[in-house]
Amino acid sequence: MADDDVWEVNRERDGRDAPFVSNFPKKGAVGQAFAPVAGFGVTLRNFFRPTVTEQYPRVKTPPMPRYHGRHQLNRYPDGLEKCIGCELCAWACPADAIYVEGDANTPDHQMSPGERYGRVYQINYLRCIFCGLCIEACPTRALTMTNEYELAGPTREGLIYEKQDLLAPLGQGMLAAPHPMAPGTTDGDYYRGDVTKVAQEQIDWVAEHRPDDPTLPVGVARG
Ligand code: SF4
Repeated sequence: MADDDVWEVNRERDGRDAPFVSNFPKKGAVGQAFAPVAGFGVTLRNFFRPTVTEQYPRVKTPPMPRYHGRHQLNRYPDGLEKCIGCELCAWACPADAIYVEGDANTPDHQMSPGERYGRVYQINYLRCIFCGLCIEACPTRALTMTNEYELAGPTREGLIYEKQDLLAPLGQGMLAAPHPMAPGTTDGDYYRGDVTKVAQEQIDWVAEHRPDDPTLPVGVARG
């Protein structure tokens, strides 16, 4: 089919009134001659590069910093969980790999700032495609991805990670939840990063309700 005929067909189909004009410059005679084999250029270039054999698993090469590995459920600096059980990550997941059940925080059982927390949180790593849409959907930055890539196992159950498998460990100075929010703060203060450490009132609350809690600071009564 000649170029003019193609244009006529497209014009009738799309209602165009001018022929399509490409922004790419037309190739010269040499370029046109080599065009059919141009794709082999990448292959040929790599013929002359040194061969690299990864010695995995004896030598583990660190992945790139933004590699999408195992997920992590993060905490605020006072130890409260960031997940509010909203399920947006589960809705965003194209592989249906995430299951969340939220529940209400109460004065005696405050797991996260605000009204709700994630009571059940599961990620099925037999389904997950590590696309990262879940972490984009999360409104509180509760969910992020680590660089951990060794996710294999002999059983289906072992590859369904539960909340305790995904929760970030307690960092220096954090107090295990549940405990009240920092006095005088709202959930908005937590989201804005205004809560930066554990308050004495929170320590006192845990000392009263769980005196044997190992995350209490040294010197506060345990047991
Ligand atoms: S991880 Fe984020 S998006 Fe998923 S339920 Fe928790 S707060 Fe919502």
